[in-house]
Parts: sequence; C-alpha cells; structure tokens
Amino acid sequence: MSKERNKRRQTRRSKTNSPKYIFVVGGVMSGLGKGIATSSLGLLLQQRGYTVTIIKIDPYVNVDAGTMNPVEHGEVFVLDSGLECDQDMGNYERFLNQSLPSINYMTTGMVYQTVIERERQMGYKGQCVQVVPDIPNEVIGRIKRAQSENEARITLIEVGGTVGEYENLLYLEAARMMRLEAPTDTMIMLTSYLPVPSMLGEMKTKPTQHASRTLNGSGLQADFIIGRSEKPLDEVRKSKLATLCNVQPDRVVSAPDSSSIYEVPLIFEEDKLSERVLNALSLSSGSQDLAAWKRYVTNSKKDKQQVRLGIVGKYFNSGDYTVGDSYISVIEAIKHACARHNVTPQIEWLNSEEFEEEDATLMDLQMYDGIIVPGGFGSRGIEGKLKAIQIIREQKIPYLGLCYGMQLGIIEFARHVVGMANAHTTEVNPRTSDPVIDVMPEQEQIVKKGQLGGTMRLGAYSCDIASRTLTRRLYQQAHVSERHRHRYEVNNAYRTQLEEAGLVFPGHNPDWDLLEIVEIPDHPFFIGTQFHPEFLSRPLKPHPIFKGFVRAAMNR
Ligand code: GLN
Repeated sequence: MSKERNKRRQTRRSKTNSPKYIFVVGGVMSGLGKGIATSSLGLLLQQRGYTVTIIKIDPYVNVDAGTMNPVEHGEVFVLDSGLECDQDMGNYERFLNQSLPSINYMTTGMVYQTVIERERQMGYKGQCVQVVPDIPNEVIGRIKRAQSENEARITLIEVGGTVGEYENLLYLEAARMMRLEAPTDTMIMLTSYLPVPSMLGEMKTKPTQHASRTLNGSGLQADFIIGRSEKPLDEVRKSKLATLCNVQPDRVVSAPDSSSIYEVPLIFEEDKLSERVLNALSLSSGSQDLAAWKRYVTNSKKDKQQVRLGIVGKYFNSGDYTVGDSYISVIEAIKHACARHNVTPQIEWLNSEEFEEEDATLMDLQMYDGIIVPGGFGSRGIEGKLKAIQIIREQKIPYLGLCYGMQLGIIEFARHVVGMANAHTTEVNPRTSDPVIDVMPEQEQIVKKGQLGGTMRLGAYSCDIASRTLTRRLYQQAHVSERHRHRYEVNNAYRTQLEEAGLVFPGHNPDWDLLEIVEIPDHPFFIGTQFHPEFLSRPLKPHPIFKGFVRAAMNR
C-alpha cells in the first residue's frame, strides 16, 4: 500500500493524529524471541493499514554492534546507511519489508557519546548534565526523530535485555517519561517466559509475576503480556497472569514455540493481538490484509523435496552448543529462496577448522547439493575453507561465496588454476608475494591507527552488472545496490591474469573501480559477492542470487 493512501486511511480512522509508541520489554530471560514478537506485531499493525516503524535499543556501551563477537552477540546486521547493528534490525526489515534508517538503532554508547559531545560544545548552556533526565531525554529525542523520519503512525521500541537489569534502567525511565507526557499514546508490552519444568509438567507463571513487579518498580505497568512458552497458555494461566500482573484478561497473549518465525504473527492473531492493541491505543482496526503472508507460511510448512546445503563457517560453537545466530540473515535468505522454489532446505554446519585436520574427509562435501562460505574475519579456519572451495570448484558443487567467501574463492582460483602458490589476502598474510586481495590505501591508514570501529566499507554501494553473465540473468538488471561490510578488496592488478585463466567479474563499482562479483562460467553455479546479498532478502521477495543458488542446488 502506498504511504499516501496509508496516511489517508489512518487519519480517517483515528480520533487524533498523535503518534503512538509501543515499548516492548522482556521478562525472565533473554533469547525469548522478543525481536520476532516485536517484528510480528509490527507486521500485523502494518497490514491493518498503519505506517509502522521499529526501533531497537541495545543497552551495551559499544557504540555500534560492529565490534561485537558474533558468537556472543549474533550476526552484525548492516543497514543501507552502513550502520552496523543488532540482528533484530534484520528481522524488522524482513517482516516490514522496509529498509530502516540509522536513527532506528541505538546503543548506550551512542546515546552517551551524543550527550557528551553536546556537553563539550556547550549544548547544555552551562547546566549540570545529569544521567537523569539528560540520558533518557536523549533516548526520547531519538525515538521521536525515528518516528518522524519514518513518518510512522505507530512506533515500536524494543528494549534489549530483561527488566531488572541495571543496563536497561535508563531506557525504562525514558518509557516512563514518555508515558507521563502522553499516557494514551504510549503502551508497554511485556514479553515474558513461562517455563514448564519437566519434573512438574505444569506451566509456571511465577517468574513472569516477578518480572511484572520489577517493571512496576520502574514506574511502569504492562498493558499487554506476551507469554512465551513451549505450549499455548491455557485460560487458567492467562487469568492468573491478568489478576496478579494487573493486566486486562484479554490482553494476555499466548506465544507458543513455532517451527517458523514467520508463523508468529498468525499465532498472535489467534488471540486477536492487533485488534486489541489498536483498541487500547484508540485506533480503529479496519480490515487486515495478511493473505500473501499466510500463503508464504502455509507453503513453507508443507513437506517438500529437500535440498541439502552446507555452510562452511567458524562462528557457531558456543561451549557445548551449536548456534546459527551468527549467520541468521544467510539462513533466512536460504529459506526465502527455498520457499519460492517449493523446496525445503536442510542446512548443515561445517566447521572449517575440521577441514584443516590430516584426516579431513573433504570428499564428503560431494553429498551436498550446494555449499555456502559466508562472511568472516581473520586467519582462523581459512586454510580449511580454501581446501573446501577447491573441492567445490573441481567437483562442480554449486557454490555461493559471501564476502570472505568470495575473496577466498579468488585466492583458491589464483593458487590452483593460475598457479600463484602464494596467493593470499593481506588480511592473513601481509607479506604475501601475490596479494590478490588487499586493502585500499585509506583503509591501510585506518588499520595502522587502530581505528577499527565503524570504519570498514559499510552499507549500500551501487554495482553495475555486465551483460551475458549468469549474474545478469539472475538479477535481470544492469544496476543494483547491495550492502557491504569488509575492509579488503579484490586487487585490480591481478584482474587480467585471473580473467585470462577463466574467471569472470560480472559486477563492478563504477565510482571506486572495484570488482564486486566473481563467477566461474565452466561450473554449474559458482558465484562470489563482495557484498552481502543476504541482508536484502525478504520472505516475499527472495534475493535473485540466493534464488539462483537454490535452483542450481535443486538441479544437482
Ligand atoms: N575479512 C574480509 C574483509 O574484511 C571479509 C569480511 C566479510 O566477510 N564480511 O574484507
């Protein structure tokens, strides 16, 4: 629906035009899927005709997510603007089918940095600058700027972490201040956990009651409770939570585990969430258009032919557990493409370091229908990835290299096809005789000075796509824009040598004369991209490169 039409519909339907704010806070524990709950509510409100935007607050002192280890914090998502942020921003973009601006993300580091810089410039006109109210005021200012930049009727604000943590107190304080200013326009939603301990076999509400009390201690009362649990909440639990947490009975909503994150909005609607939220905000609910989304969910849940895809990486071991969070956008992009082709992905994690061992069974890679080497940094696991890529190239297994995966594809080709045994990236070997991947001079200075935060080539850059290439057939477009996050580039000095040996560079950035895509024509599917196409894939709009990759995997 167009923004204009949306606006007209919204004005007609509500009594006032004031923007509405919904704070989503977490209770009991992290990892509940608060981001998915927020994205789902956002989608539901959007599909009822409202312009919606979603803000993520990360209570870390890091100024952005770029310096955080993906194993601990999950994928670093990149916006068009180049801001490196939390993976939830990716979920918001995927659910809302929108690219979000930088103002929609904030961290404690960012907020304090702005306040301190303003103080240094006499922005507080000689006043004493205090944590309260100056920090919450800066938070509120950012929330309102995001609302206005996105022209949002409804702004959802997800506060990272759980209530009661020291870290997010100032954000709850901001919510309290906003609520005091406009009580009917500000809503609080508590997403909390209800465990079913195996020795009891019964769903317990007490932890959520405690979370609700803790929230009360910050001067906030939840308007809604979203109860995350293994199973749906029964009427007994709902009514208990309503009475003991001081929430209207029809505002306790069930959010049981589901096999697909995209199903969550539909589950919420079983409890009429969007209607009830709009009602609580004195906005009319109008009609809802969820048909395309429903079709997507029903289709992706059906039993279909499987494609077996391997992801060769290193960011998935956390103690005794394997976590895929570091590559979440890659996984989602695969799912979107598979849904479009009517197949089910079977994704397997392949630890690149294991390929470096003496007895590594590299030939097992042939069991896969397709293999992805996603983004990464540093030298750990690199030789393992290179060994894997050699088999992939020689055995003609469909391959998609994302960023580092593209650079390594070129290094492998240079070493084994062109014959440059020492070909490498200067990221791993600064003294290599054949730096086929290298830093640009400006980046070299940055690295020397150690100014590593937020200084890579980040965000959207344009790319020209050469005709008569596989990439062009996939994109069906001569110019595209894609998101980047890397410091190293293909070294133009080696272009001719690589091309003469059969490598094709179908993507080129005209402004900086940079090679952005690589293809091996004599192969069923071998594409590497310097950018991250996974950041732009959406459920109902899968990315052309992922679509092509999955198609090739199906043909194998
Ligand atoms: N480490 C590589 C670089 O900085 C690739 C980065 C990535 O894969 N995102 O250029």
